[in-house]
Amino acid sequence: MAEKRDYYEVLGVKRDATDEELKKAYRKLAIKYHPDKNPGDKEAEERFKEVSEAYAVLSDKDKRARYDRFGHAGMNASGGGFSGQGMTMEDIFSQFGDIFGGHFGGGFGGFSGFGGFGGSSRERPIVKGSDLRIRLKLTLKEILNGVEKRLKVRKDVVCHVCHGACTTEADGRKTCSQCHGSGIITEMSNTFFGSVRTQTTCPTCGGVGTIVTKPCAHCHGHGVEKGEEEISFRVPRGVAKGMHLTLEGKGNASPEGGINGDLYIIIDEEQDPNLIRNGNDLIYNLLIPVNTAIEGGEVEIPTVTGRARINIEPGTQPGKILRLRNKGLPEVNSNGSMMGDLLVNVNVFIPRSLNQSEKEIVASMKDKAGFRPTEADRSALDRKYREMLR
Ligand SMILES: [Zn+2]
Ligand SMILES: [Zn+2]
Repeated sequence: MAEKRDYYEVLGVKRDATDEELKKAYRKLAIKYHPDKNPGDKEAEERFKEVSEAYAVLSDKDKRARYDRFGHAGMNASGGGFSGQGMTMEDIFSQFGDIFGGHFGGGFGGFSGFGGFGGSSRERPIVKGSDLRIRLKLTLKEILNGVEKRLKVRKDVVCHVCHGACTTEADGRKTCSQCHGSGIITEMSNTFFGSVRTQTTCPTCGGVGTIVTKPCAHCHGHGVEKGEEEISFRVPRGVAKGMHLTLEGKGNASPEGGINGDLYIIIDEEQDPNLIRNGNDLIYNLLIPVNTAIEGGEVEIPTVTGRARINIEPGTQPGKILRLRNKGLPEVNSNGSMMGDLLVNVNVFIPRSLNQSEKEIVASMKDKAGFRPTEADRSALDRKYREMLR
């Protein structure tokens, strides 16, 4: 490989050139060697890269100082963020979009339609049917286990009479007069860098290249009709509200031999009568009678898979949270290896109204020392709250 040329020499500027002089020199050379002005010219492309690389270094204050001091050797030092070697066209346009911008209608985006710099022309655009969205409500059990779903979807299907051709006559079409059958409109415009080609889908034929002159009597030339399709798919375990599944090609059909749109299944959740979802965890608000809180005992709680019995310790305080490990929902895509928990939030029910004999029981508790909280009980609450606030 040939010795790398001095960056100042490459740009044809003095070593004390100002930023403005550098920019001017770079613009001049970039235009001269621009690939669109020199199609297929490998040497011009190399020069274009060379001047872009030189400008990338000299237009950056730090890199320029390092280059001034160490020459090319200073450019390959690690942490430079610029190897000084092998700048791609994309690098150049993304880094110097401001220089090209305004002449190409907005930087790099202006080049994207070219299919590279070979000047190759585009294929006829593919006509795609529109996408469909369906909201799917799932129960917690379906979310826990994953579920196979079968849905009837109302959508555009290919016309059964013309089979999407939009006409049933052999001579039912003519070549589009605007695009002459290519489906693409190519426009040349003069810019800073010479003439630039922009390509858009033909508005007259929508990219098809032909116009229907004798439309199909059944679909009126649309090529599609309203129909229904039964669609089966699997919902993975652990999905959550707002997630979506993409079923490629299951959206609306496209006429003229185009491709179908996609079908998006938007996940929603049916509200469970007992369990509240919090991420992969589930929360159950358990309300126990005062005597159960005092004496302890077994109580029944709901889970996603059915009812379960748990033990309440004697002297259980309101607000105690019992964590049932791995009884929540699976992390999506974890294949069940990561499970949330079921949190039982224990609350004590205080009666709102009592009959005479019940009132007597409560009255008999009045002077009993065991029913009165101590300072230790109170400071236990403080500890709990401090923990919560941390
Ligand atoms: Zn038809
Ligand atoms: Zn056309």
